[in-house]
Amino acid sequence: MTYFWFRRDLRLQDNAGLYHALKENENVQPVFIFDKNILDKLKSDDRRVTFIHQTIHNLNRKLNSLGSSIKVYYGSPIDIWKELIQQSPANIYTNRDYEPYALKRDEQISELMTNEGLELKTFKDHVIFEKDEVLKKDGTPYTVFTPYSKKWKAKLLEKTEIENEVQSSFYFKTYPTEKYFSKFNQHQNERTIPSLESMGFESWDGHFPPQSVTQGIIKNYSQQRDFPALDATSKLGIHFRFGTISIREKARKASTLNETFLNELIWRDFYAQILQAFPHIVNEPFREKYKHIEWRNNESEFKIWCEGKTGYPMVDAGMRQLNETGYMHNRVRMVVASFLTKHLLIDWRWGEQYFADKLLDFDLASNNGGWQWASGTGTDAAPYFRIFNPTSQLEKFDKELKYIKEWISEYGTSHYPKPMVDHSFARKRCLEVYKKGLGK
Ligand SMILES: Cc1cc2nc3c(=O)[nH]c(=O)nc-3n(C[C@H](O)[C@H](O)[C@H](O)COP(=O)(O)OP(=O)(O)OC[C@H]3O[C@@H](n4cnc5c(N)ncnc54)[C@H](O)[C@@H]3O)c2cc1C
Repeated sequence: MTYFWFRRDLRLQDNAGLYHALKENENVQPVFIFDKNILDKLKSDDRRVTFIHQTIHNLNRKLNSLGSSIKVYYGSPIDIWKELIQQSPANIYTNRDYEPYALKRDEQISELMTNEGLELKTFKDHVIFEKDEVLKKDGTPYTVFTPYSKKWKAKLLEKTEIENEVQSSFYFKTYPTEKYFSKFNQHQNERTIPSLESMGFESWDGHFPPQSVTQGIIKNYSQQRDFPALDATSKLGIHFRFGTISIREKARKASTLNETFLNELIWRDFYAQILQAFPHIVNEPFREKYKHIEWRNNESEFKIWCEGKTGYPMVDAGMRQLNETGYMHNRVRMVVASFLTKHLLIDWRWGEQYFADKLLDFDLASNNGGWQWASGTGTDAAPYFRIFNPTSQLEKFDKELKYIKEWISEYGTSHYPKPMVDHSFARKRCLEVYKKGLGK
């Protein structure tokens, strides 16, 4: 027997690690662990846990139709693997996860396996290129997006296959797991999937974004993606996050349909490799010299921002969209993040954490990248003196006020608050505080 451990790759199709597990072994037993170390930090109404729970049920149904089933546990992975390996020793196959907690966890499990004369075998599945695959000539990681993306694209051409007359990169290849589905452990185990309630979570009965996106959205992406009132972006973030879709498949399609969309997928790889190469960014600014900014960190102002009551409609609409749906349009994410860090001078880490709690598509690398970009502390960041004017952003990207009216019911009435801070005053204050911090 061999174990396949699902983590951020919750699908049977085109799954690199699962493909290797099935191809190279007989009797592959799928396993999923609801990780207490992660879940204990979440609120009981966290919608993402419902998403994972539903997805595991779906996976199990598919496995049942193949005569197999997934073993689902709730606890600390190291304890669970110790027990499983004791009961039935076997190698574990899994896909790599690059977040600091995951790296530490996998190191521990790998050690446990080695001590037992077994192996934890890991594969690349979550990204197109890992940190050591796209490097500068001198072998160091890129920290600026444009040259990184050029090298990323050049690397694709290194190995290119002609397939159905469409040029397809080796790195976009499909792993045909379905060829080996008969090698799943043919055993419907009696373990039930723990209920959400038993793990301390409430079920959410809203709708998650679908896994597919119309070709029209991708084709018009370059022209329409910046307008939050339009349904013009893919909303695939949650699926990339949990691996319910394959990044290779989507990147392959994007490469033939729309380069701007492909570039967004490259941003995802870019931030993933930044996190791998510079793990200090989890707690600290990417650029050391930004360490000394004196954030005002006013708690009541932070609360006003969180609730979407700043009096700046673009900021408020975005925060209300986030609170209500777990999603916020990218243009608006940039505006609210700039407002928090530059207008209110609140530490980017506060905003980052708020997004981490709320976003369905929360991803440590991209979220950290987005926040450090907006606050000017990150790689390739918006310079500190570039301060979005939330009013002109509104005039530019939501001219007809459709987006803000969708999210702010009291807009235009006396119940809508006045701006909490004057833009020119805040701009000047921000420049002074940043200059002072940088001068230290
Ligand atoms: C402050 C801030 C925080 C952010 N936090 C996250 C986060 O936690 N998770 C996350 O996936 N993205 C994050 N982003 C990036 C971006 O806003 C979202 O990926 C995008 O809005 C998700 O919507 P979509 O799926 O419709 O994206 P689309 O516009 O359809 O893009 C397709 C996919 O490309 C990737 N992508 C797009 N833009 C970026 C980007 N700038 N950086 C990295 N990947 C990108 C995502 O996987 C996205 O799903 C953040 C951006 C900012 C400014």
